[in-house]
Amino acid sequence: MAKEELECSFCGRKKPETNLLIAGLDAHICDRCIEQAHGIVIEESKQSDSSDLSAELKLRKPQQIKEFLDTYIIGQEATKKVMSVAVYNHYKRLLQPASNDDIDIQKSNIIMVGQTGTGKTLMAKTIARMLNVPLAIVDATVLTEAGYVGEDVESILTRLLQAADYNLDKAEKGIVFIDEIDKIARKSDNPSITRDVSGEGVQQALLKLLEGTVVNVPPKGGRKHPDQKFIEVNTENILFVAGGAFDGMERIISKRLNMQAVGYSASISDDVVDENNLLQYIIPKDLKDFGLIPEIIGRLPVLTYMDPLDAQTLRAILTEPKNAIIKQYKKLFAMDDIEFSITEGALNFIVDKAIEYKLGARGLRSLCEEILTDAMFELPSSEEKKLNVNKLYAEEKLTKTTLKKLKAVS
Ligand code: ADP
Repeated sequence: MAKEELECSFCGRKKPETNLLIAGLDAHICDRCIEQAHGIVIEESKQSDSSDLSAELKLRKPQQIKEFLDTYIIGQEATKKVMSVAVYNHYKRLLQPASNDDIDIQKSNIIMVGQTGTGKTLMAKTIARMLNVPLAIVDATVLTEAGYVGEDVESILTRLLQAADYNLDKAEKGIVFIDEIDKIARKSDNPSITRDVSGEGVQQALLKLLEGTVVNVPPKGGRKHPDQKFIEVNTENILFVAGGAFDGMERIISKRLNMQAVGYSASISDDVVDENNLLQYIIPKDLKDFGLIPEIIGRLPVLTYMDPLDAQTLRAILTEPKNAIIKQYKKLFAMDDIEFSITEGALNFIVDKAIEYKLGARGLRSLCEEILTDAMFELPSSEEKKLNVNKLYAEEKLTKTTLKKLKAVS
């Protein structure tokens, strides 16, 4: 066929009338028809979405949810269990038929307390991935009361809408992870001293969202687009997960447990208190003592804690999760036909440094990056098809200066 005779097999437009004509086995399709077809595909998938949820729930009981979490998250057994039940109940609630028995299953919004880098965000991300629902991750520190510099709480829902590609139905069943919730705690027990812009006011504003209400959301977010039409988002079925490090919480807990924070052996009492992991004893009252208002605590009824990461956990994080860091490097090297291996000695060395420099789990990646950057730069254009990293190699790449630099940015 002569070139100028080519045409779209769907709409019949000749090649010169199109921007692009893609050839198949014995047909062609033009850019316009592709776009139209794409629109149809999206529409179709929107319609089949609603049945997804019930299918999902039939498939995943709490134990299966936990098994899924296990493949991505090391340890954190208590939180995984609590989350599995909370998520299961939340979605059961969504599917409950309208009944007249007056039993209204309430939302199981969650609050996770734990040091930074212990996997709180990962937990929310993994659950969203499993349920195939949109997830918005927001930082509570940027939120302010309406009228102040910063973001209004409604911006949280803008993010969720964006994560759902503006599919309102999906967004209304999504998950919002509010990080650093501890940063909006009331600074002082006496709210009347000064106007606490970033504290109690934001908590009050958040309440509304957590409770379940219809919020007018600016789809583009911010106050830069004053003319945009608002979208009404109902937060009734949105699962809110809040997380925070709550620095100083141990002191509050230990005070409550009637023991001194340092150097006191709890074995005197009958119940042995694990001083290295006081967060496990947290109760809602501790959140109140920290500065969260009782109403917020009430709207986050599922309270759970993250264990601090010990050497064994950090070591496992390097290689065990489904998308473990070392597995990722193996894949990257394999794309250049390079066989990458790393010795136990080198892995333990990385863990030791992460602990010594207090880099946490997040630091593991930066440490690996420092050790492997030279190899990733050089090997693809060399004849070398094998890279074995041992402790000595890792030590050479991780100088004191690099470590200090990593510490500074962490
Ligand atoms: P947080 O939200 O508690 O500050 P993140 O979830 O952002 O912590 O964790 C930072 C990174 O550390 C994650 O991307 C993940 O790779 C790793 N990580 C932390 N805790 C775990 C864990 N328990 N299991 C697997 N990976 C983890």
